[in-house]
Amino acid sequence: MSGKITMGADGKLVVPDKPLIPFIEGDGTGVDIWPAARLVLDAAAAKHGHEVEWVEVLAGEKAYNETGDWLPTETIDSLKENLIGIKGPLTTPIGGGFRSLNVAIRQILDLYVCLRPIRYFQGVPSPVKQPELVNMVIFRENTEDIYAGLEVEAMTSDAKKLRELLEETFGWVIREDSGIGIKPISKTGSQRLQRAALQYAVAHDLKKVHWVHKGNIMKFTEGAFQRWGYELVKEEFSDVAVSWADCDGDAGDKILVQDVIADIALQQVLTRPAEFNVVATMNLNGDYLSDALAAQVGGIGIAPGGNINYMTGHGIFEATHGTAPKYAGQDKVNPSSVLLSGVLMFEHIGWNDAANDIVSAMESAISDKVVTYDFARLMDGATEVKCSEFASAIVDRL
Ligand code: NAP
Repeated sequence: MSGKITMGADGKLVVPDKPLIPFIEGDGTGVDIWPAARLVLDAAAAKHGHEVEWVEVLAGEKAYNETGDWLPTETIDSLKENLIGIKGPLTTPIGGGFRSLNVAIRQILDLYVCLRPIRYFQGVPSPVKQPELVNMVIFRENTEDIYAGLEVEAMTSDAKKLRELLEETFGWVIREDSGIGIKPISKTGSQRLQRAALQYAVAHDLKKVHWVHKGNIMKFTEGAFQRWGYELVKEEFSDVAVSWADCDGDAGDKILVQDVIADIALQQVLTRPAEFNVVATMNLNGDYLSDALAAQVGGIGIAPGGNINYMTGHGIFEATHGTAPKYAGQDKVNPSSVLLSGVLMFEHIGWNDAANDIVSAMESAISDKVVTYDFARLMDGATEVKCSEFASAIVDRL
C-alpha cells in the first residue's frame, strides 16, 4: 500500500511499504540524469522488496513553462506533506523574484543541514595520490551566514541608510562605494546543526568530530559557533563525546570533538584526510570545503547532497552540480550525483540494503571502466557510455 512518510512520536521516520516520494526532474541535464538515476533506484529497491511511488512535482523552467510559476505552491505543499523528496539541478531564474530556487526550498522547509558525504569510489579518476583516505561527512549550516542574503548594493539609498546607521550607532566608518552584507550566526542555528553532526557520529560509530570556523578573526559569529559547539558537547553529549581541551586529545572510547580554523582545515583535508570523520561548519566554509573535497574524489559530477531538518523530518536530496545547459538532452553527463543523492535518501529512510547495492554496482561499473565522458577523459582504456547506458551498466551489476 502506498502512503506518506511520516514522523513518529519518537522522532524517527515512519516509512510505509510503498512510500510516496515527490521528485523534481530538474532543468538542463535534469532530463538526462533523473530518468537514469530513477532506473537504478527502482531496480535496487525492487531487489529488496521495496517500491517507491514517485510523484512528479514541478519547479524551475518546466514549472514556469507549464504554470507560469517557477516554484508552484503545489510543489511546496507536496514536499511539506511527504517529508522526503529528491531533485535534479534547477536554473536560477533571472529576475524571477528568487535569489535561487534551491535556496527558496531550503528556507521554506527550514532544511538547516546540508549533508555532504564525501567518499571515494574505487576506480574514479582523482587528482590526489590516495583518494581512498577521504571518507568524511560534512554538515554545512544551510540557513544562516551568507545564505541569509542580507545584503545591500553599493551606492544605493539602502546602503547609504545602513552606513549612516552603523556610523551613528557604532562609529563604524564604511567606504561610501561599498556593498554591505550581514552575517548572522545564532546559537540556535549553530547548535541544531552541531547536534545533528554529533548524533550522526554516534549513530555511525564515528570517533572524530571537527568544528571548522574562522573564529580567530570573526569572534562573535564563527568564534561563537565554536564555543556553542563545545558547550553542547558538555551539556548534551558528555556520556558519548568529549572536547579536546577536556581530555588532552585522548578521548578513550568517546567521540573526540575538536575545532580547526577554516584555512588550515582546507589544507589538512588534503594532506591528512584520514583524520576527519564528521565536520560541522557554517555556510560559506561548508561551501568551499565540500566542493574542494569533492574534487579529491572525482568532482561534482559524483557528489551527492541532502538538505535535512532532523526535527520535522523533512529532507530534500539533490544533485550538487548545476544544470550544465550545454549538455542538456544529449544523454551524456554523469548521473552519479543525483543517483548517489538517491542512495543517501534510501539510507535516510532506512533502505540501507538497496543503498549499499547501488554503491557496489556503481563501483563495479567504474572498475570495469564503463563510464561517462567526464571520467572517460581522465582514464586510460575506458569505454565511454551515455548517461542512460551508465545507469543500465549499474543495473546489470546490481
Ligand atoms: P554546472 O551546471 O554545475 O556545470 C559546470 C560544469 O560542471 C559542466 O560544464 C561540466 O564540466 C561539469 N558538470 C556538471 N554536471 C555534470 C555532470 N552531471 N556530469 C559531469 N560533469 C558535470 O555549473 P554552471 O554552468 O555554473 O551552472 C549552470 C546553471 O545551474 C545555473 O543556472 C546555476 O544557477 C545552476 N546551478 C544549480 C545548482 C542546483 O540546482 N543545485 C547548483 C549549481 C548551479 P565540463 O564542461 O568540464 O564537462
